[in-house]
Amino acid sequence: MDNIKKILVTGGSGFIGSNFIVDQLKNHKNSICNLDKLTYASSLESLKKIENYSNYKFVKGDIIDSKLIEKILKQYKPNYIINFAAESHVDRSIEKPLEFINSNIVGVANLLININKYYTSNKNTINKDFKFLHVSTDEVYGSLKFNEKPFTENSVYNPSSPYSASKAASDLLVKAWNKTYNLPVIVSHCSNNYGPYQFLEKLIPLVITNCLLEKEIPVYGTGENIRDWIHVQDHCDALNKILIHGFVGETYNIGGDMEKSNLDVIHIICNILNNIKPRINGKAYEELITFVNDRPGHDLRYAISNKKIYSSLKWKPFVNFNEGIKDTILWYINNEKWWKSN
Ligand code: NAD
Repeated sequence: MDNIKKILVTGGSGFIGSNFIVDQLKNHKNSICNLDKLTYASSLESLKKIENYSNYKFVKGDIIDSKLIEKILKQYKPNYIINFAAESHVDRSIEKPLEFINSNIVGVANLLININKYYTSNKNTINKDFKFLHVSTDEVYGSLKFNEKPFTENSVYNPSSPYSASKAASDLLVKAWNKTYNLPVIVSHCSNNYGPYQFLEKLIPLVITNCLLEKEIPVYGTGENIRDWIHVQDHCDALNKILIHGFVGETYNIGGDMEKSNLDVIHIICNILNNIKPRINGKAYEELITFVNDRPGHDLRYAISNKKIYSSLKWKPFVNFNEGIKDTILWYINNEKWWKSN
């Protein structure tokens, strides 16, 4: 086991951050301070099982709040920082882009300014492999055609939505802080996550819960859009590896090696549910599928190459998609109270 690390996690009460914190406390015995604004997307419930751990601390706050960030850094003295805090839903970014610009760009700039001050004045007392890991998305690379090769770390940024553009802008700020101030940073780009505690507006929880509620399953356009799917536990493993062993100044793509069209994912979920929880009326869940107008600027395909993270850090995804999706469906069936209260 690696030595105990003090990790400041920003945005740790959301879907991926909460899975990361639980994994860190249970499997790596590290110490965590979680700073989260607790927006609609967060859930305190997901961290209930660890909230009384002596090596876990929660602070409610916004990454835009400079004084608060300065105070946390001074008091907690983290030797690693990982940023998950962001507005993350593409449809919302189309309706309310300014919220995305504030949290995802201004918030990250504020983090960088304060982390840089902290790092330069504590260089000799915090560990020599101090790192700021910024968690980004494959969506910054834009859309691929069906026959194009997956994105690599050298692919050009070409974001389509206010969400992906705001993440792209924050990535560039993070990289600039490395070049200009020598701040030890790493940026990771992951594909679409699924797993427990994902907020209901994202595709997989939306389909599962609409089936369980006997509601229509809305499909944008023809449903042919392709995403690469990764289980959140695999993402958390990759982030742990990058945080501890990743090279400063580098970018790592994290993919699930599991490209599927949205319609295929929906059919897989319906098929599993037909077997494990048949509808009372005897009909197939597929009958709930309803095609709706496509999202503006809807990217056709995302696919991401794992070559670099595999050759450099020996990481590759572990969770089999069919098993991961079945476990996720069972989790939503068994945790109705959580998603109904959301
Ligand atoms: P999420 O929306 O579930 O959680 C985001 C968390 O950040 C919430 O708890 C929210 O309260 C918090 N937050 C938002 N703005 C904040 C602010 N200004 N200050 C403090 N906290 C704030 O998102 P997620 O799915 O867990 O994604 C986490 C990160 O991973 C995001 O940066 C996202 O861009 C990135 N990412 C997500 C996916 C995915 O499939 N979900 C894939 C790749 C990358």
